[in-house]
Amino acid sequence: MEQGGPVEERHHAVRRFWRHGELDPDTNVVFGEGGAGAFSDGKIYTRRRDGELGYIFRRLVEMGADPEILEEGWAHLGTDRIRAILPRMRARLTELGVQVRFHAAVVAFLVEGGRCVGVRLADGEELRGGPVIVATGHSARDIWQAMLDAGATAEQRPIHIGARVEHPQRLIDAARYGAARGDLPPASYRLTSRPPARRGVSPRAAHTFCMCPGGTVVAASNHPGRVVVNGMSYSKRQAFWANSAVIVEVHPSDYPGSDPLAGVRFQDEIERLAFNAGGGAFKAPAHRVSDLLAGQPSGDIDRTSYTNGVVAADLREVLPEPLIIGMQAALRHFDQQVPGFAGPDAVLIAPETRTTAPLRFHRDDARESPSLPGLMPVGEGAGYAGGIVSAALDGFRAAQTLVERYAPRR
Ligand SMILES: Cc1cc2nc3c(=O)[nH]c(=O)nc-3n(C[C@H](O)[C@H](O)[C@H](O)COP(=O)(O)OP(=O)(O)OC[C@H]3O[C@@H](n4cnc5c(N)ncnc54)[C@H](O)[C@@H]3O)c2cc1C
Repeated sequence: MEQGGPVEERHHAVRRFWRHGELDPDTNVVFGEGGAGAFSDGKIYTRRRDGELGYIFRRLVEMGADPEILEEGWAHLGTDRIRAILPRMRARLTELGVQVRFHAAVVAFLVEGGRCVGVRLADGEELRGGPVIVATGHSARDIWQAMLDAGATAEQRPIHIGARVEHPQRLIDAARYGAARGDLPPASYRLTSRPPARRGVSPRAAHTFCMCPGGTVVAASNHPGRVVVNGMSYSKRQAFWANSAVIVEVHPSDYPGSDPLAGVRFQDEIERLAFNAGGGAFKAPAHRVSDLLAGQPSGDIDRTSYTNGVVAADLREVLPEPLIIGMQAALRHFDQQVPGFAGPDAVLIAPETRTTAPLRFHRDDARESPSLPGLMPVGEGAGYAGGIVSAALDGFRAAQTLVERYAPRR
């Protein structure tokens, strides 16, 4: 059951959103075939070393990914390649007897005798059968409520929040490679800030995340009245800009409440403030790094890659103070490692709130909810993954559990 449309339809919906600010809440940058990874940089590496990484990479190659990904340490696909792979995956699934239903949003879970025995779709249709695997990603907030209502339990989880920083790619190349890049690929970086305490107070730790060399900063909202940014690139990574998220740690004690969905409300408030600061129409608030460090708002900001356009703003009015202080410390530190990182060409575009899910659903060794057997929370939305490959691994393991239980190999 897929809430959004097939990837071909998604392409048009996303283009309408990026060009004209017309948001389709069901089919967009995060919803629809391929999920949140479809309009991404397609970085397919993970720190996880457990599970069947090789299996997942070989399937990607079978579906059309460049075989180089089997050898490349920091492999990436690019959004263009991912969009070509997805219809082939769908065709293979169909050939194997899987029914893929688009525009079929699950809105509730059917519970009988304390077990999840099926789902209800938005049009009222009820589908019986279990176990039900729920792999709805980090932006499907309504379904979290539906899972809790049905009897699944969850707990709060720390996340990271910040903004995308954008530089001309040549600045990163010069800092990393020296004068001549030659035939080398566009340079990348991965930076961490753990500032020491001063007068007993230390700014929060921060790091760069999801660096997109030769990429674009994209509007990734799926809710009206909310601005969320993210990054993507094409397979050749030839765009003028480089971007990455600079994100600061957020603790559950920051959340406005102790219930599992309090972290969602924390994200939501920042996204609402960003929408207002951008003046509506999904423009994003932007702040020059040099101005943020000088403690002043930015004047005009003319050029960024952000799909929906930016409005010069003061990010101190969008992000909570501890996050601003953590970002400021990190940006100063990163400037020492990548000269120019905090220079006049660097612009922050906010907010980067959806780095992962702010809650985790409980589950047992078989990935079933202990309080609601028959429901299997899986992937990033369940709180067990943080990227394309870790989500794939979790999905793979869930499928493997079902195969072992219902169709064990002799
Ligand atoms: C712009 C962008 C760039 C990214 N770049 C990278 C990257 O380079 N590398 C990386 O590793 N990760 C990246 N990520 C993160 C990555 O995409 C996610 O971690 C990953 O997709 C999570 O996979 P998932 O299967 O758990 O959920 P998702 O991919 O989010 O899939 C969930 C699916 O469930 C569907 N759905 C939601 N609610 C319902 C419902 N009620 N009924 C039916 N269907 C529903 C959605 O439409 C969606 O298709 C990026 C994310 C974004 C948004």
